[in-house]
Amino acid sequence: MSTSLVPVEDHQARVAALLRPTAAEATAPDDALGRVLAEAVAATEPLPSFDNSAMDGYAVRSVDVAGASEDRPVRLPVAADVPAGAPVGRLEAGTAHRIMTGAAVPVGADAVVEVEVTDGGTETVAIRAPRRPGSFVRPAGSDVTPGSEAIAAGTVLGPAQLGLLAALGVREVAVRARPRVLVCSTGSELAEDPEPGSGRIRDANGAMLAAAVAQGGGSPVRQLWVADDVPTFLETLDAELASGVDLLLTSGGVSAGAYEVVKEALAPRGVEFLKVAMQPGMPQGAGTYAGVPVVCLPGNPVSSLVSFEMFVRPALRAALGHPRPHRPVVRAALTETITSPPGKRQLRRGRLDLAAGTVAPWGPAGSGFLGSFAGADCLIDVPPATTDLHAGTVVDAWDLGVD
Ligand code: AMP
Ligand code: MG
Repeated sequence: MSTSLVPVEDHQARVAALLRPTAAEATAPDDALGRVLAEAVAATEPLPSFDNSAMDGYAVRSVDVAGASEDRPVRLPVAADVPAGAPVGRLEAGTAHRIMTGAAVPVGADAVVEVEVTDGGTETVAIRAPRRPGSFVRPAGSDVTPGSEAIAAGTVLGPAQLGLLAALGVREVAVRARPRVLVCSTGSELAEDPEPGSGRIRDANGAMLAAAVAQGGGSPVRQLWVADDVPTFLETLDAELASGVDLLLTSGGVSAGAYEVVKEALAPRGVEFLKVAMQPGMPQGAGTYAGVPVVCLPGNPVSSLVSFEMFVRPALRAALGHPRPHRPVVRAALTETITSPPGKRQLRRGRLDLAAGTVAPWGPAGSGFLGSFAGADCLIDVPPATTDLHAGTVVDAWDLGVD
């Protein structure tokens, strides 16, 4: 192992240190799915907002049905019919109201007798069992009390939280702002629509990294690509970075060959380039240019995306205050034997079978090709000291299918 290789953790810390926690911004709940709540939401109303019935049945005074039994049912006149949505009524002693689930329990009633222990009558009702006070009544505020914290700061807003906001009538919430990310691909080989024989290729990294940014909780504000020309590259950055960007993410131009535009342009201007002890994705860069945090990923699409997962995604989510900065790790048994270079942390593409508890290596070990990555759903994480993993060995796999 070359002594100049930097451990993965060192570069993770370097990248994480570049990003500041993002500010709070107001948003409508309709636009808040997946956002991190910046400020706790306090309930201003009770939930349920009134005493309501937990069953279809009859609202009664428990004392009126205290003597009811199978053999000697209590008969009560049905004085009202209370569908859900009807206003709160008043129950006279010695009567019953036929009531539906969710309907307001009338004032004066203290229990609901479920329809199953009655004859279901609409004029009078025969009740065949006693019910204690409070039976099948959902009291106001029994779920959420006014003034209590309905949703804690730092919660990721999902369906349950958005449903609660709707129930409480909350129309605006404070969420953590998405870091604005400029995604810049580099390479004179890149072209919109390459002619056969031109030696040029389409930009895969731009779309890929913009999607990774969005999935990680960032906002890919712009996507562009520039040729391997230092002055053009710097001019482009100067123009683009002026308009408020929290992170510049480049791909390509960082390895050891000639025409390494990113390295040539940014190494003398505040960005550090190094070799990280991982496969794929050894050449990496991080620093600040023109006051903007910069992370430079390798150009090979597989290396680029693996590097994003390793360094950028956790940093983005930490900046967002996301409670789960890392992909969930699944323990799964390898379906085949694999090897890994000594001294490097290897991230192998794999396919998980969660039901079987197995993971199948997918595609070649090295930089590989995007086609095989697109068929994978996890990254098998092989520690630097491990070189041989036999079929059946239980390994860590990052589940890429779970946010
Ligand atoms: P580089 O690190 O710039 O030498 O790029 C390494 C390899 O990745 C080369 O084969 C490039 O053509 C390829 N590559 C770099 N950038 C991109 C991109 N944006 N889309 C697709 N392939 C790329
Ligand atoms: Mg290049």
